[in-house]
Amino acid sequence: MATSTRFQPVLDEIAAAMQPLLGQAGTVASYIPALARVDARQFGIALRTCDGEEAAAGDADTPFSIQSVSKLFTLTLAMQAVGDALWERIGREPSGNPFNSLVQLENEQGKPRNPFINAGAIAVADRLVSHARAEGGSAKARILALMASLAGEPVGFDEEVARSEAETGFRNVALANFMKSFGKLDNDVAEVLDTYFHQCALRMSCRQLARAAGYLCRDGAHPIDGEAAITSERQTRRINALMLTCGTYDAAGDVAFSIGLPCKSGVGGGIVAVVPDRLTLSVWSPALDATGNSLLGMKALEMFVARTGLSVF
Ligand code: GLU
Repeated sequence: MATSTRFQPVLDEIAAAMQPLLGQAGTVASYIPALARVDARQFGIALRTCDGEEAAAGDADTPFSIQSVSKLFTLTLAMQAVGDALWERIGREPSGNPFNSLVQLENEQGKPRNPFINAGAIAVADRLVSHARAEGGSAKARILALMASLAGEPVGFDEEVARSEAETGFRNVALANFMKSFGKLDNDVAEVLDTYFHQCALRMSCRQLARAAGYLCRDGAHPIDGEAAITSERQTRRINALMLTCGTYDAAGDVAFSIGLPCKSGVGGGIVAVVPDRLTLSVWSPALDATGNSLLGMKALEMFVARTGLSVF
């Protein structure tokens, strides 16, 4: 792996600018103990260019709970598995409602607005369970295999996080049962939720995530083995479009305005961002703002686009 001489100083500068701000504002997700006890005074940033150069600074190699960033990768697997049929069950509109809203799901007869709200990701997990079963495998094993292949090294689930998600995920259980009642889930609710809770519990570092998302800046080509296709070019464009419009909870409009890059965030404080045809970037800092996005992560992305002028607009 070669270090990017262009970007390494930029990431060093951003990590240094974040140091005095660590632990000063925002709140760490507290809905499960394993996330509540994460030290807020951490910040990592890493990127990988389309040519395979890398740069990293701060806590870029510290693994964290990627939470909803996983929705990006399970969507990718489902697009590989079922293609356009996926959109019979899931929409492509920003929700304008909390990521775990039940009201909207009822109004829309169990069809989630998009694959990045919880109901949408649970519907994606249902597709993965069906597809894996038809081929004699398990959806969880496929998710792990994809992540390890994309990151170029083994990746694991944090079983404590997965267990806590299952013990406290009452609203996710409600969303899944709701969809089941509308005939919109094919599989056993418990199995679908087990898959969803485990994907949320994937532990990865910024460096691994920046690598893993690499196909999104390379028209779908595998980030390490450039010969293999992860998605088609068209699917990659669509995933990037969904990230831009729906990837950062109710802040997607603001993020498009102030950062201008497709992003997917999670309540563990991680964010993946894509500069199409150039690079993928990952930031992590556990303290969240009121919209559920990493406070310093968003600040760092703003700094990155200001320093480099890279944006899709
Ligand atoms: N495991 C969380 C949930 O389903 C994911 C939250 C998130 O990162 O958006 O509630």
